[in-house]
Amino acid sequence: MGNVFVICEIEEGKVADVSLELLTKGRSLANDLNCKLEAVALGHNIKGIESQIYPYGVDVIHLGDDKRLEFYTTLPYTSIIVDLFKAEKPEVCLLGASTLGRDLGPRVSSALFSGLTADCTALEIGDHSDKKAGKEYKDLLYQIRPAFGGNIVATIINPDCRPQMATVREGVMKMEIHDASYKGEIKEIDVDKILKPEDLVVKVIERHMEKSKVNIKNSSIIVAGGYGMGSKEGFNQLYQLADVLSAEVGASRAAVDAGFADHERQIGQTGVTVRPKLYIACGISGQIQHTAGMEESSMIIAINNDSNAPINKIADYVINGDVNDIVPKLIKLYKKNTK
Ligand code: FAD
Repeated sequence: MGNVFVICEIEEGKVADVSLELLTKGRSLANDLNCKLEAVALGHNIKGIESQIYPYGVDVIHLGDDKRLEFYTTLPYTSIIVDLFKAEKPEVCLLGASTLGRDLGPRVSSALFSGLTADCTALEIGDHSDKKAGKEYKDLLYQIRPAFGGNIVATIINPDCRPQMATVREGVMKMEIHDASYKGEIKEIDVDKILKPEDLVVKVIERHMEKSKVNIKNSSIIVAGGYGMGSKEGFNQLYQLADVLSAEVGASRAAVDAGFADHERQIGQTGVTVRPKLYIACGISGQIQHTAGMEESSMIIAINNDSNAPINKIADYVINGDVNDIVPKLIKLYKKNTK
């Protein structure tokens, strides 16, 4: 059996959070499969990157350090990973469902005829019995994700082809250091040997990075608004509440679609996944596509005028009433108490 591989994204010398989350998940999958966890790190001037990667329990890092890999471009990254995977024959390969992973994953998977499940929300190891074919499969990767518009949760398996590939969005898996002093080994990739002129037809001439000022993912308190906030002006009250609570403002998709908030604030299946200490859901019904992105919050307070709103089922505290009455009262109260 091959090992579990995680393709790490590196930006300005830092391994992306989504990759560290996948290494955490990869370690537990490797433990279940009784195999090694291996990472692929490509970039330029990335010597020393292992200090960020080993603590997640990584046994082997395949390191490709080359000027031509400084910025991600599809063809050279694909060639290197396909070449590596043909030699190493991984059992499982995980990538972030990021801009990079969404581009690279399908390329690698189609070159290896492996198949890939995008946007998984859970990954587990399990068996499968194909009664029709009379076959029993052991230790498959269960690639779990919502399907049919979120109405069912599908478990997808890939019994016959390798690697079993999956992408996962940032924030979905937990990031946890396995052992701060863990040490693996580095295997250098011979980039020169693999890259051909046709891999280098795309040149990055200039890069402009737009950094978002919104930091919902790392906020310990989130005040989130839904369609029930009624209007953009109504929704704007949430910024005042967030201000007194030192919180960040999130939104449901219905609120984003209605123009109450920007897409970067959307929480849920097609937005950000968050796990704050406190989540205050204001005028949000709590459809599964929304709760998928916030149900692991430590404490949830729901403010809703419908006592049967689905969000109430997962809330620790429910305030039954009109957001237009309650939110201003909360702002006043917190202002008074924080003076
Ligand atoms: P509604 O469902 O309209 O609920 C509004 C709530 O506000 C109701 O509970 C109502 O009782 C309450 N309310 C109304 N007025 C007041 C008031 N004055 N005071 C107090 N309460 C009031 N949704 C997401 O959020 N994130 C996603 O990432 C996401 N991805 C999706 C992906 C797919 C493929 C699909 C099909 C859907 C997705 N959705 C997502 C949409 C999701 O299904 C819901 O439509 C959406 O979450 C509803 O948003 P809402 O709760 O704000 O609005």
